[in-house]
Amino acid sequence: MNTYEIRRDFPILDQQVFGHPLIYLDNAATMQMPSPVLQAIVRHYHADNANVHRGIHALSERSTRALEDARERVCSFINARTSDEIVFTSGTTASLNMLADMLVGNLRPGSAVVSTLMEHHANFVPWQQACERTGHPFLVVPLDERGDLDLYAYQDLLENHDVSLVAFTHVSNVLGTVNPITDIVELAHEHRALAVIDAAQSIRHEAIDVQAIDCDFLAFSGHKMGAPTGIGVLYGKYDLLENLQPVRFGGEMVDDVCVDRTTFAPPPLRFEAGTPNYVGAIGLAAAIDYLEYLRLDDVREREAQLVHYAEERLQRIPGLHILGNPKMRMGCVSFTVDGVHPFDLATMADKLGVALRSGNQCAQPLLHEANGVQNVTRLSPAFYNTVGEIDMAVTCIERIVKLLKR
Ligand code: PLP
Repeated sequence: MNTYEIRRDFPILDQQVFGHPLIYLDNAATMQMPSPVLQAIVRHYHADNANVHRGIHALSERSTRALEDARERVCSFINARTSDEIVFTSGTTASLNMLADMLVGNLRPGSAVVSTLMEHHANFVPWQQACERTGHPFLVVPLDERGDLDLYAYQDLLENHDVSLVAFTHVSNVLGTVNPITDIVELAHEHRALAVIDAAQSIRHEAIDVQAIDCDFLAFSGHKMGAPTGIGVLYGKYDLLENLQPVRFGGEMVDDVCVDRTTFAPPPLRFEAGTPNYVGAIGLAAAIDYLEYLRLDDVREREAQLVHYAEERLQRIPGLHILGNPKMRMGCVSFTVDGVHPFDLATMADKLGVALRSGNQCAQPLLHEANGVQNVTRLSPAFYNTVGEIDMAVTCIERIVKLLKR
């Protein structure tokens, strides 16, 4: 993988911030968009733009074709059985909220929903709130001391409760822990529970095969993989989608509307009320093309090297503590430094051109209960970052820590 050539596709990286070359290490929050994706979007607006599904004129037909081609593209990317299993949403959060709203009320009466302590709020709060509304118990799988899911505790929960749904992340956005999703899904199914996967952090790093994983639902966001913001996916097995009632209503999702009743279109349109973000979907298809052109295996290997290198360099800084030591870490490394507030660290790093993220990373259950910290600093490289950038960033962090501790 030739990083210098790849960086030409990301002109945003070639800039100065406060007089220093930008070092963008906040890719777990959003990945930058490569030029071919932007070009696909511009091309659509310049040549083919019209609202989809509603017109028989040429532009509307072209626009609709492009949207449905994008659905096919996502379908083959995650190896769904049919593109009817691909629902476009505005992102992971929207996918999981909609799913929780549609699903939890229809679970076996009295059965429990299980999530984990390492979830992003997007895969925690919607389930917690839906359980609160419907009276289903909401149970949480703890972590072991390394920051891996405690799979014995998970098994115990399944054996000692009537669990009808488990929702867990593929990769933690704080610890970078990679969960053994196929095993987790298999165990869930052995206990008659549905399995929902949050793939927001893994979608860029892993070739996801929903049939091999056998998950029932999976959600991800386009902007974590080079597509624009405002587009995401909810994958669901068709027979499950077919039995869900929509919770958002409007144009395009209906079959027949009368004064006294409405019937709905089959999936996926049933879940896409209103004008969909078809240009976002076209951008998502272009982002998939781009990642496949780079080869996902190479992207994963490159990012793993960078994370591993950052981890090694960071842990040499006195007083710096990396969160967790999972068996497999992907995408990011989070840390605290004795006597240094993460906001001060990230603010000063910014003044040196280094973009890091500080805060609770939308994962308060993990920080509160497992580690007892309020905020962390997170460094998350992408394939377009260089080892030299990691070196410079760590040197900056070292200097800032020395300064703040003085
Ligand atoms: N899940 C995980 C693991 C995430 O890291 C994120 C975003 O950082 C989300 C869900 C929410 O994604 P979005 O804000 O794109 O809906």
